[in-house]
Amino acid sequence: MSPIRCAYHPERDALQYCNRCGRPVCNSCVVRAAGGNLCRPCAEGLHRSARPRSAQMWIWLAAGAVLVLLWLVPKLLR
Ligand SMILES: [Zn+2]
Ligand SMILES: [Zn+2]
Repeated sequence: MSPIRCAYHPERDALQYCNRCGRPVCNSCVVRAAGGNLCRPCAEGLHRSARPRSAQMWIWLAAGAVLVLLWLVPKLLR
């Protein structure tokens, strides 16, 4: 039985698997994240699977505010 080696340290034994890319990682490479154990590149977001949502959120908030104004102004002017 041959031990599994870390994907980033060929001389170290892998003790965990990355939850996202499935690579074997050693204890110094594993990062505990909300989604489980991740390797460093996955934890640092180097793969860029998820977009930052903040810009989109502000656009939706602005659109919502405009809609509320459009709905409210005719009632106030009446
Ligand atoms: Zn990974
Ligand atoms: Zn390692």
